[in-house]
Amino acid sequence: VLHTNDDLGRTRRPRVLVGAFAMEANTFAPGSTTLADFRAQVWRVGRQVGPDALGPMSELAAAWRVLEERGYEIVPSVAAWSAPRQPLAPEVLDAVTRAVTEACDPPVDGAYLMLHGSAVAHGEDDPEGVLLGALRTRLGPGRPIAISLDCHANLTPAMVAAVDAVSAYRTCPHVDTRRTGEQAARLLAGALEGRLRPVVAMATRPMITPPQLHDSGREPFRTLMARCAELERDGVLAAALLPVQPWIDAEGLSWKAVVTADGDVARARAVAEQIIADAWTVRREMLAEPAPRIDEALAAALAAEPPVVLADAGDATNGGAVGDSTELLRAALRKGSGRILLSVMDPAAAQAAYRAGPGAVVAVDVGSGGAGDYNERTSLVATVQRVFDGSFAYTHPVNAGYRASTGAAALVRSAAADIVLHSRSVGVIDPALYETLGADPRAYDVVQAKSHVSHRAGFARVSERTIVAGTGGPTTADLRSLDYARRPRPLFPFELG
Ligand SMILES: [Zn+2]
Repeated sequence: VLHTNDDLGRTRRPRVLVGAFAMEANTFAPGSTTLADFRAQVWRVGRQVGPDALGPMSELAAAWRVLEERGYEIVPSVAAWSAPRQPLAPEVLDAVTRAVTEACDPPVDGAYLMLHGSAVAHGEDDPEGVLLGALRTRLGPGRPIAISLDCHANLTPAMVAAVDAVSAYRTCPHVDTRRTGEQAARLLAGALEGRLRPVVAMATRPMITPPQLHDSGREPFRTLMARCAELERDGVLAAALLPVQPWIDAEGLSWKAVVTADGDVARARAVAEQIIADAWTVRREMLAEPAPRIDEALAAALAAEPPVVLADAGDATNGGAVGDSTELLRAALRKGSGRILLSVMDPAAAQAAYRAGPGAVVAVDVGSGGAGDYNERTSLVATVQRVFDGSFAYTHPVNAGYRASTGAAALVRSAAADIVLHSRSVGVIDPALYETLGADPRAYDVVQAKSHVSHRAGFARVSERTIVAGTGGPTTADLRSLDYARRPRPLFPFELG
């Protein structure tokens, strides 16, 4: 049985702080992700946090069980999760940091945090670095901190300096969440029990690539990720490649490798260099083939056997876009008619249609952007078919059971398309939004999805035929079209070839 001595010499079980703070920011998406947005998704503090706060397959659940089985007293701190979104309002980082530091009283012996790793707050490029720095200050040296990350993390020197062990996903799509959480918890336990002296080193190369080919089922990414597993078998404690998500305009944005070794920081550094050097060698193979523009993609979709899933790459709701693009709507209006089903997040238009009610004809402006923007304001006259204000459950195999609130929403019909207007950002990686509004995607020629890859699994029950449209927006695959101000220079694929 594990035990440690408290300040008065009494024996007690060692206490381990456990928590989760997971969100992927997209700095090209307009607006902020607020505390209210977290509360509408996952937000629990202190004793409200249980092992399954993020589901039984999460890193949090896996780490929790490892630590509990080994006899540790678990001290829950916070479970905060948002789908990829706009940068955080500063209040979110403050609240997460407060929840974590307050859980350190009475003192804990070590800590595990499940992080995504690429949060950005308005005014702060490195929220996880701030959080981990505060935790380290609170714990002092000698009390281990282990973290787990999504492989799309933007790992920073401040994060590395604060922690003793790092684990990260080795699969994309991310199906090794349990392995990742268990690895972090085992390294933490090894450090707490004096069996391991984990040390962390990071290596980087100046490169970013769009995520379409961050696919551990495809070369060359498959080999890069498999190499990390081999290096662990050769004796480092944890090895990970981090092909950062590219839509964050922040200092230090680049692919990285992170290695945890037992007591030998030079070894950790050398292995991290080896992993990232291999990635640099194949960087050009990681650039996706250009996708057709929207008019061309829509024409191809309408020409194929229906239904066809048309993926709007620039408005990918699983990459931080909020779903407010009007590119496909405008293409449908140019086309003039078609059995096309699409969605646009626009609170004003959605509320107007919701208030008008079924049967009413409404004239609304959809989109908030200027001429030429991906979300260019577009006038629409349509008949309201159905209204809704509530939440629905995703049916995507990876997200099944996670819920989302639409706010006031309506299905409206114009000559050119049927359009779901909704007030809150929701994922369109499966047909659940459309079905919630009473539209059957199988009855259309073309159905819009909002992702680069994920819709293939989510919309498989509608159609296997998909076309990715090379649209603009916060998650465009055309990284050169984005207006980066803070990213490092030179950087591949911009100044470096
Ligand atoms: Zn990811």
